[in-house]
Amino acid sequence: MSMFSLQGKRALVTGANTGIGQAIAVGLAQAGAQVICAGRRACDETVAMITDAGGTASAVLVDFADPMAGQGLFAGQPIDILVNNAGIIRRNDALDFTEEDWDAVMDVNLKALFFTTQAFAKAVLARGAQGRVVNIASLLSFQGGIRVPSYTASKHGVAGLTKLLANEWAAKGINVNAVAPGYIETNNTEALRADVERNAAILDRIPAGRWGEASDIAGAAVYLCTPAANYVHGTILNVDGGWLAR
Ligand code: NAP
Repeated sequence: MSMFSLQGKRALVTGANTGIGQAIAVGLAQAGAQVICAGRRACDETVAMITDAGGTASAVLVDFADPMAGQGLFAGQPIDILVNNAGIIRRNDALDFTEEDWDAVMDVNLKALFFTTQAFAKAVLARGAQGRVVNIASLLSFQGGIRVPSYTASKHGVAGLTKLLANEWAAKGINVNAVAPGYIETNNTEALRADVERNAAILDRIPAGRWGEASDIAGAAVYLCTPAANYVHGTILNVDGGWLAR
């Protein structure tokens, strides 16, 4: 079997109804995985994209506004791959940033990610299986950003947790890695792209000379789930059009 095949694997992708999560779900299915599309809204479109192309997909509703909401996701069926993609961003000056905007982002981006991953790992280890976790980090796992304090804190946290969990679980057969997308055209970056000056400044700095598309992220995430990445643990793979190389 190809070292890039996910035939026979079952994957769950959070925030799979749109954007990067949708593209990753489709990519995993193209590699042969059965995909469970998890979202706080229906993932019908993603399921249809996969099944129309001959793949296998189902959907489940989960709202990480309750960070413990993912606890039941792994009870019913064996799942081999977890992609922690769901995330939100709140923008405001640091001086005006509210506790609500702090907690909302930290709950979805970091606390839910940790406890969902913990539940996944418990289920994988309980059945003596092997697993893959791919977290969606950010350029703001490395850089400070501006006017997004809770987002930056959460994504630095995602990078740290990726390494910590890799340290604890590599020898147990669970690979934990992350993908750090650059500037990608999704709902998450709508406000940035609408700001003419910020948009021009961002574009000017991207060596590839364009914003990324959600599908640009899928290949890296799929790779980290395949046998090709068997010995890859705790890495954060930048897919940023060269941004961090500047
Ligand atoms: P997006 O289109 O806003 O997608 C975010 C996904 O997370 C959506 O499916 C969203 O559902 C889901 N989500 C948000 N809150 C949730 C909750 N409480 N419970 C369950 N699901 C929830 O933006 P995106 O760019 O594809 O973002 C995906 C990931 O990539 C995020 O972690 C983001 O931080 C990260 N990222 C994006 C960029 C970029 O440039 N776009 C760069 C670096 C990292 P709804 O559709 O219902 O909101």
